[in-house]
Amino acid sequence: MKMGETLLIAVSPGIQVGGALFTPKHLQTIGAVVGEEARIEMTTFKQLYVEIPVERRESIQAELELVGLEVYPAGFVSKSLIACNFCKGAEEAGVEIARTLNQAIAGIETPTPLKIGYAGCALGTSEPLFKDIGVVKMRNTFDIYVGGEPRGIKVAAAQLFMSGLSEEQLVPVILRIIDYYKTEAKGKEKFSKFIGRVTLETLQQIAA
Ligand code: SF4
Repeated sequence: MKMGETLLIAVSPGIQVGGALFTPKHLQTIGAVVGEEARIEMTTFKQLYVEIPVERRESIQAELELVGLEVYPAGFVSKSLIACNFCKGAEEAGVEIARTLNQAIAGIETPTPLKIGYAGCALGTSEPLFKDIGVVKMRNTFDIYVGGEPRGIKVAAAQLFMSGLSEEQLVPVILRIIDYYKTEAKGKEKFSKFIGRVTLETLQQIAA
C-alpha cells in the first residue's frame, strides 16, 4: 500500500421508517473523520460515496459505525437495499424483512453494480420496477420483479419474476438470482441483458 492512495467507501444511514435519514451527528462525524480534502458524492442509490485514504479505512469505518452509519464497498457490488420510506408503518411495510434483506445482499461482488429495490406496498414509491431486482410487499407476501432498466433511451420496467413469496422464501430466492448472475454472466454483462440471454424461465427454475 502506497501512502496517499485513496479508495471510495459507500456510507448509508440504514433502513428505517422515514427513509434514508442522516442525523446531524452522522453528518458531523462524516465531516470530522474523512478529512478536509475528501470528496463526498451523493449517488442516485441512497449511498454517499466518500473518498478516504486507504491506510485509514478501518479506523474511519469503525468511527462511522459507532454513530450508527453503515459502510459498504463501492463499485462493482450489489448496493445496499434501495428501500421506500415505510410510510405505512414499520410492521405493515415490512421494515424488519427489508433490514434482513439488506444485510444479506449489500456489498456482494457482482459483474456490474446491482441495484435492488424494496417497496412496502404496491404504490411502490421507491420505484422498485426500475431496479435490477425489485421487491414489493403485497399485504403478507412479496412479489419479485427483475430486469428494470432506468437508463438510456430504452427504459424498461422490470418483469414480474415470482409472486406470493413468504418472508422465509424471499432472501434465499434473491441470493440464488445474484449467485446465478455472478457465475453465468459474460464479462461485465448488464443484468437486464443477462436475463434476456438466459431467459426469465431459466432464472425462475434456478431460483425456485
Ligand atoms: S412504497 Fe408504500 S409503504 Fe413504502 S413509502 Fe411508498 S407508499 Fe409508503
